[in-house]
This record gives sequence, structure tokens and C-alpha cells, in this order.
Amino acid sequence: MLQIGKTEVRSFDITYNDIIWTVKPTSEDTHNYTFTVLRSEAEFGPFIAISEVMDDTYRFRDSSVPSRNSVRTMFYVVRIRNVITGDVVDSPAFRKVGKLDNAALKIVLDHNVYLTRLAGTRCWAFPKKTFGQYCPSCFDEVIGKQLRHNCQLCWGTGFTGGYHSPVQVWAVVREPQEIRNNVRSGTPRQDQTYSITMGPSPYMSPDDMIIDSNNRRMKVMSIQGPTRDGTRLVQQVMCVRVAPGSVEDKIPLKVPEDLQLLTTEGKYNNLNIDDGGIQSAIDLFR
Ligand SMILES: [Zn+2]
Repeated sequence: MLQIGKTEVRSFDITYNDIIWTVKPTSEDTHNYTFTVLRSEAEFGPFIAISEVMDDTYRFRDSSVPSRNSVRTMFYVVRIRNVITGDVVDSPAFRKVGKLDNAALKIVLDHNVYLTRLAGTRCWAFPKKTFGQYCPSCFDEVIGKQLRHNCQLCWGTGFTGGYHSPVQVWAVVREPQEIRNNVRSGTPRQDQTYSITMGPSPYMSPDDMIIDSNNRRMKVMSIQGPTRDGTRLVQQVMCVRVAPGSVEDKIPLKVPEDLQLLTTEGKYNNLNIDDGGIQSAIDLFR
């Protein structure tokens, strides 16, 4: 039976809570399990289901947090169900711990307006799997590591599938510098390091992938940015462009056609992007 690993409630807005969970590494196929998020105002329930039954999904946005000015604490439980045996296991109840102060929230919200309305383009972040089913093709559980690194089942991550479902983010993608070497005469070369500025969620880690609206595939190298009370408010992500034809370029990273994921946040005057461009970018992922 699958076991829930870490759980977390994260939010930078009073209107929603993001519920994020992981599962403990296992040799079982995680597709044999479904997840449901339940919510209660009391730690020991009663808990009511607030999500649909989800497959291979490890985050859920609760946008029905009651009452805008509420100071009530919400408790969440993730329910795992084995679809073959019907066994059900609940995670312990968890809640949001710690909170950004008002000044930090203001920074995050203002920056979010800048990203979504003015300067950002739509990108998709694909977090690298660090938990789930060990790759049955290349992972040796006895010695605890991968035997091959060009495996096309886990793409070198050791976990089946390699990457989680995409999360849409608004980000500013800065083109790499063009550098001319003046000492020796030569052709100008272009550095392949892209700098991406985005908000605090989702939390990026090295080796995650980002695909921008021009269908450029980038691999995260490092993340920095201002923090407050240990929480990063703005993420400056340094990425390298994935070389065409490399193993990373072959990963079938799919952007779902889920409408909720693709809708814009209403009218905006961002000149960097238009809906036709978005649609053709999405078509490329199919
Ligand atoms: Zn593998």
C-alpha cells in the first residue's frame, strides 16, 4: 500500500490554498492509486471531500476557502485508495504552518500583477519526480541507484515517468547574452543560459524543466531570490536550454488540455503574448 510522504498547505492569497503532497518511494505502480483531498475546520474531522478523485496528481488548489476575512484554520487530509483492492488510507490531518507577514504578501502580490499583466509570458513548469514508483527498467532497489542514465522510462530520474504534470506559471524569460570575444577575432557566440523571473509558487528545484510559450525547453540549474522568514518571495531561476536531440529533448512533456489550466486571468494588456501564440504553442506539445 502506498504511503503519504510530506504534506503541505501553501498560499499567497486569501482566496485559495494549495495542497501539496508526496508519496514515499515504492516499487508499486502509482497509477493503481487515486487521491482525494478532504477538508475540515477541526483537526479530527468530520472531513468532507473537496476534490474529485485524482490519478497521478500531487497537488490541488482549494479555491473554496470559506469567507474572505476568515481567520479559521483549515485542516486537510489526503485519502489514498488502491483501485484494485479497494483499500483506503488517510494521511494525518495537516494545515498551513507559518504565514507571510503583510509586507511580504504585498511584495508577492505586486510582483504577480507585474508578471501576469505587464511583463510575463505563459510558461509551464515540470517538477522532476523525487518520489513515486521506482523505475522498473533501470533502478536497482538493492544497491539503491540507477544502473543506466539514458533510460527512456524515467529519463534518468530513477522514478517512472520522470516528471510531474505541468504547472502553469507566468514568468519573464530573459534571453541569453550574446558575447563577442574581442581578444581573438571570432564570431560572436551566444551563451545558452536563460534567466527566468517568476513568483514563489511552485517552488522550483534544480533539474526541473520549464517550457516557455515559444516551446523552448529549459532545464533548471539554480534558483535564487529575496527571501523573508525563510520563504522565497521572487524566484530568479537560471536555466540552460536543452540541446535539440538530447535525452531531455525526447521527454514527452505534455501540457494537458484542461481548460482551467489554460484560461487567462481575465483581460490583461500584456503585449508579449496573444492567444493565437498560446494556442500554437500548445499544439506543439500534442
Ligand atoms: Zn529508468
